[in-house]
Amino acid sequence: MKKEFETLVESSQLLKDMVDLKEVYWTNPKLGKYDEIKGKLPVKEEEITEAEKRLERFAPFIAKHFEDTVERKGIIESPLKEIPNMLEEIKKEDDISGKLLLKMDSHLAVAGSIKARGGIYEVLKHTEELALENGLIKEGDDYSQLASEKNREFFNQYTIQVGSTGNLGLSIGITSAKIGYKVIVHMSQDARQWKKDLLRSKGVIVKEYESDYSLAVKEGRALSDADPMSYFIDDENSKDLFMGYAVAAKRLEKQLAESNVLVNEKNPLMVYIPCGVGGAPGGVAYGLKAIFKEAVHIYFVEPTHAPCMLLGMATGLHEKIAVTDIGIDGLTEADGLAVGRPSGFVGGVMDYIISGIFTMEDEKLFHYMRMLNSSEDVQIEPSACASFIGPAKLLEFEDSIKYLKDNNLLESKDNFTHIAWATGGNLVPKEIMESYLQK
Ligand SMILES: *Cc1c(COP(=O)(O)O)cnc(C)c1O
Repeated sequence: MKKEFETLVESSQLLKDMVDLKEVYWTNPKLGKYDEIKGKLPVKEEEITEAEKRLERFAPFIAKHFEDTVERKGIIESPLKEIPNMLEEIKKEDDISGKLLLKMDSHLAVAGSIKARGGIYEVLKHTEELALENGLIKEGDDYSQLASEKNREFFNQYTIQVGSTGNLGLSIGITSAKIGYKVIVHMSQDARQWKKDLLRSKGVIVKEYESDYSLAVKEGRALSDADPMSYFIDDENSKDLFMGYAVAAKRLEKQLAESNVLVNEKNPLMVYIPCGVGGAPGGVAYGLKAIFKEAVHIYFVEPTHAPCMLLGMATGLHEKIAVTDIGIDGLTEADGLAVGRPSGFVGGVMDYIISGIFTMEDEKLFHYMRMLNSSEDVQIEPSACASFIGPAKLLEFEDSIKYLKDNNLLESKDNFTHIAWATGGNLVPKEIMESYLQK
């Protein structure tokens, strides 16, 4: 542990438990009423609408490039599925009431993870800028014409770079290479071999680092900044990524209405999202809060070995502290969550938005993975399974119960609609999924 943080840890039971790798729950003391806090945020609701419209403009282009998006006419969206058998299985172990739904971003087209939202959005935004500046299209045009061989050659003059633990690299690599860009993905040590292999098979340059995620990002950023023809997608600071993720909330609102799920303060949504650096869960959380306000309660989940957002938010130090600073190793089987230092930009917004954070042991990832597989025949990757600890433990931690009491929610617990956000899985090769399920 770094000397400067010793007294900080000594003075906090939460931090001591985190250092001991115990599963913890933390309630966010700064959560505010949405209409009172929204003016303080560095993001605006209009930006979500702008992102939604941009994705609609690009839909014909996406449909032309990616066959698996044709059915939905180029709109990349995932099913919302009720999972009653999984609920029954969880009930055998824990106290849970209400309904349980799975938001299956694990099965998003193109990238097979939640990164198909933010990652693809930022690549498209950059593409639109280049195309307008260089006269390839003008406002109001049908963007499908951008998907031509001639335009692929144009985009090939440019490079896109990104640092990734795996899935962001997959999403950005797959899309950018198809559009025509040169792509360099800077992978941290946690990235799985199959993700690197898949990217290389698409012509993407994969640089591997012996170090953690923050260093892969730093290196990538420096190399990209030195090249005027290169654009860096910055997972730690990007507002564009964040807005791409936030659009999920508008789509979810429609799906809930279509499924006749009533949402109000007495029939609240309880949403659980696995968190790495924070961008994906943060964007979704912001979007949901802007729509549902006090009728939604959002919880992040992190591994006990990499609770970076919790550390940043609970200490108020955000990106100025890393889990390794207090002697936590950052090593976890949940490769998408293997991040030691959170995004300061996202943490600053989440200060006002999320209700709390749960941490969980790696072992349970595989437990829930098997449970979901056997009860619902749905396969998702280990990181995505983190979301189930939330609904399972909401009525078990003293502080999570206290939050429900303080917000007059305990008496409505039978009306809860729990949404576990399945963040990835569809591109995992069959034999690797099989080995996870044997674990
Ligand atoms: C990226 C990712 C997350 C978390 O997103 P962050 O933006 O890193 O917080 C969660 N689950 C999976 C499967 C991911 O790929």
